[in-house]
Amino acid sequence: MRIAIVGGTGFIGQALIHYLLEQGDQVVLFSRSADVYRSDPNFKHVQVVSWPPQGQPDCLAGTEAVVNLAGETINQRWTARAKQRIFTSRVETTRHLVRLIREQKLKPKVLVNASAIGYYGTSFEDVFTEESGPGTDFLAKVTQAWEQEAVQAVPLGVRVIRMRLGVVLGKSGGALEKMLLPYRLYIGGTVGSGRQWVSWVHIQDVVRAIRFAISNPDLDGPVNVTAPHPVQMKTFGKTAAKVLGRPYWLPAPGFALKLLLGEMSGLILKGQCVKPDKLLKTGFKFQFPRLEEALRDLV
Ligand code: NDP
Repeated sequence: MRIAIVGGTGFIGQALIHYLLEQGDQVVLFSRSADVYRSDPNFKHVQVVSWPPQGQPDCLAGTEAVVNLAGETINQRWTARAKQRIFTSRVETTRHLVRLIREQKLKPKVLVNASAIGYYGTSFEDVFTEESGPGTDFLAKVTQAWEQEAVQAVPLGVRVIRMRLGVVLGKSGGALEKMLLPYRLYIGGTVGSGRQWVSWVHIQDVVRAIRFAISNPDLDGPVNVTAPHPVQMKTFGKTAAKVLGRPYWLPAPGFALKLLLGEMSGLILKGQCVKPDKLLKTGFKFQFPRLEEALRDLV
C-alpha cells in the first residue's frame, strides 16, 4: 500500500517508516526540510516531498492512506509564544493537509491524524475511554482544535481516525529517556504525589496500531492508543527501578518540578488513566500490554 506521512521525520514517524517498509508498503514522506532528508540514508527507501507541497497538485496520487504526525514539540517551556507554536503547528498543518486531500481527484481512503490523551484533561480518579468528553486545560484545547480540523475530511468520503496517543515509550527519543535518567543516576523516586496516572504505550504497539487502523475499516473516529494496563507514577517508578536494577528513593517534590518546568509540569504531576477500548474491541493485540515487559524490551 502507498502511504503518505506528514511529520514523519520525528520520534514516532521514523519508527513508523521502518515498520511500514518492513511490511512491504511504499512510503511518501512530507517534510519541511525535504532537501535534508532526501540525502539522509535513513530515508533512502522513501520518496521525500517538500511540505507544504508547492505546485504539485497530484502529490497524493495513488496514495491510499495519509498519516499526520506533524506538530511543534511540547517538550519545551510553555511560554505564550511556545504555546502559540504548539497550537498553530498542529491546527494549520492539519487544515492544509485536508485542503490538499480535497483537491485530489482520487482521494486517499483514510486519514490517521495524531492527537493525544491530553484531550481528556487530567484526573486522579476518572477512567477515560473514547466515549469520555474533553478536558478544559491547554492541551485539551489544542487537541480539540486539532481533531476538529481532521474531521473536516469526513465529508470528503475519507475515514478519519483521531489517534489519541498516550505517553509513547521508545528506545531513542520520546519521554522514556528523561523519565529513566534519575534512576540511571541512582536518584530516582516517585515524582509528585505518585498517585497520578501514566497511560503509556510501547512505540512498537503505536506503529502496529497505526497500520492496523489503516487496514481495518471498523475503526473510525477517536481511538485511544495506550497500553491496556496504565499505571500510577509510583508503580512506574518502582518498575523502572526494578528493571534497571537501581534503588527507589523518596518522592521528588512537585514544587521543584513546577519551578523547573512551569506549566508543562502539569504533564508529569497530573495525568490521566486512559483505556484503549476501541482497539481492543476491534481485535488489536498489544505486543506489550504490561509495563515491566515493555521496559525490559526498551532499556
Ligand atoms: P516529534 O516532535 O518527534 O516529530 C514531529 C514532526 O513534526 C517533526 O519531525 C517535524 O517534521 C514536524 N514538526 C515539528 N515542528 C513543527 C512545526 N512547528 N510545524 C509543522 N511541523 C512541525 O513528535 P513525535 O514523533 O513524538 O509525535 C508525533 C505526533 O504525535 C506529534 O504531533 C505529537 O504531539 C503526538 N503525540 C506524541 C506523543 C509522544 O509520546 N511522542 C504523545 C501524544 C501525542 P519535519 O521537520 O520533517 O516537517
